[in-house]
Amino acid sequence: MKTISRRFLFLTIFIQSIIIAANAQQDTGKVRIIMIGAHPDDCDQDGGGTAILFAKMGYAVKFVSVTNGDAGHQTMKGKELAKRRFAEAQEAGKRFGVAYDVLDNHDGQLLPTLDVRLQIIRKIREWNADVVIAPRPNDYHPDHRYTGVLVQDAAYMVAVPDVAPETPALKKNPVFLYFQDGFQRPNPFRPDVAIDITTSFDQKIHALDAHESQMYEWLPWIGHYLDQVPANKNDHEKWLAQTRDTKITPAVRESLEKWYGKEKGGQVQHAEAFEICEYGAQPNDEEIKKLFPMLGK
Ligand SMILES: [Zn+2]
Repeated sequence: MKTISRRFLFLTIFIQSIIIAANAQQDTGKVRIIMIGAHPDDCDQDGGGTAILFAKMGYAVKFVSVTNGDAGHQTMKGKELAKRRFAEAQEAGKRFGVAYDVLDNHDGQLLPTLDVRLQIIRKIREWNADVVIAPRPNDYHPDHRYTGVLVQDAAYMVAVPDVAPETPALKKNPVFLYFQDGFQRPNPFRPDVAIDITTSFDQKIHALDAHESQMYEWLPWIGHYLDQVPANKNDHEKWLAQTRDTKITPAVRESLEKWYGKEKGGQVQHAEAFEICEYGAQPNDEEIKKLFPMLGK
């Protein structure tokens, strides 16, 4: 009896250690990425091309929209709009090859409360994320600004077991990065990492096309260019490719040349760039290459 129970004990410990190893961050060799935006098209526009490259390598990518998008339209609103935007996000997720979660917080009313911070901490933990990407807290839209603050507030806390204790804490603080933006104050965006998305650009446009209520209705209406939206649906993606491309700034070009070499970096046609946040783990260049294996290729 004694031997059997001892064997059973060893077996239990053995199985437990396998489970722990399976759950450990990065031990599969595949990085787990979570991108967090304010609205159900934000991650798509700022990190979609990079997400496609990760997904093609078999890496797990999730997009999270912190609001349900129920205020971003000129004629629809409330539950009806939230439902439409959820469906669009799911279709976009399929086209990107990523999972897509939408949190049920009202669009246009987001505040950096403890409740929403805990929602975000749980999402990062449940995804067992190695890399978290979110907006900087400088932006024209308060939902974007507060998403930036909320994700900053979740950094470090994701590893504190007593915070949101019902969702097990991460064993280490992930690397947090910011999406690219053009805002200059209090300081301009710094492209620490720049990804060549030339090969995934067309797929990114196809995925953005799933956000019909945004790409062809709301954004053109609020931006006063509704008359420029092609009447023929067959022309939509070509038009999106012209209007939704992010310009490669001199700073982003310099970063591309650093990571891909002068020649290849100089020829990149489409790129997405990210800035490392000071509140997460601080990777050196070698670690950045492990987190973003598409760099230099
Ligand atoms: Zn947005």
